Amino acid sequence: MTLLEQMLMNTDSVVILGHVRPDGDCLGSALGLYNYIRSLRPDIRMAVYLEEASPKFAYLKGFEEIRHRTDDENYHLCICVDSSDRERLGEFVCYLDRAQSSLCLDHHVTNTGYGEHNVVEDKASSTCEVLFKQMDESRIDKAIAECLYTGIVHDTGVFKFSCTSPKTMEIAGHLMAKGIDFGNIIDDSFYRKTYIQNQILGRALLESITFLDGKCIFSAIRQNEMKLYGVDGKDMDGIIDQLRLTEGVEVAIFMYQTGASEYKVSLRSQSIVDVSRVAFFFGGGGHVRAAGCTMSGSIHDVINNLSLHIEKQLNEREQED
Ligand code: 5GP
Ligand code: MN
Repeated sequence: MTLLEQMLMNTDSVVILGHVRPDGDCLGSALGLYNYIRSLRPDIRMAVYLEEASPKFAYLKGFEEIRHRTDDENYHLCICVDSSDRERLGEFVCYLDRAQSSLCLDHHVTNTGYGEHNVVEDKASSTCEVLFKQMDESRIDKAIAECLYTGIVHDTGVFKFSCTSPKTMEIAGHLMAKGIDFGNIIDDSFYRKTYIQNQILGRALLESITFLDGKCIFSAIRQNEMKLYGVDGKDMDGIIDQLRLTEGVEVAIFMYQTGASEYKVSLRSQSIVDVSRVAFFFGGGGHVRAAGCTMSGSIHDVINNLSLHIEKQLNEREQED
């Protein structure tokens, strides 16, 4: 019996939490787990609390039932998915503090082990992959498979990032066998863009700047530009992926303004720089090839600070070669 199954046997109420600005893996794992528990143990009182997510994920079963505000409810068991530290839980951390027991399911190398029990597999492509292994496959129905497949698709960039393993593909195959419409899941939740999302992508690419001899590229979107185009953080998925694919680039940086002098920063690397180390230094976290953090100062300050760390790693590597 897996740890998840054991913990579900000994509880009558469960709260599921994920990270701020929930992405495909966060939503897929939270709702996959929600639907699994609902079908396995309908007697359990349960809720998912997450910030508002992009409506492109509305096809996931249970999406409309997600609660976006804190309330006075208490739950016995708190399960945190895809979140490497307590801060990532945002305001919903209060449910973790009030729970008698907790389980953290994650795949971030920077995970701090903040749960009472932690299942952290940093080689797994996604939290959905970790979660699949905690489930009884015969109890996974089509709706649960749609959730898990969505998370895997998003965290692997449609099965191509270095985190994609033979095991990932095997799991995806098991999920396909549940009858999901995998083509539409990939198109609708990953590739499709609204008109304004395409416009902001175009703007970000047009204004991008390379530095460190073309080994790095960055682009920044200010709040006044976000207002002009009518976009928010959820509309900027995918910009970093296009920057990353610029020929000759080792590290791509994308940031958008979240406060007077505050930026949400995304980092991606090709094969040398460990961006999780860079992000972790600035209070964030993530994976070796994909990480993020929130930084203060002007765009200039942010780039200067990041570039020092990136250059250091690039130089270390050159010395090794
Ligand atoms: P993204 O750039 O797509 O927002 O995030 C890339 C990866 O880094 C994801 O796995 C995400 O969970 C992690 N990440 C992004 N921002 C932060 C942050 O502020 N703190 C931590 N701990 N992880 C982050
Ligand atoms: Mn993830």
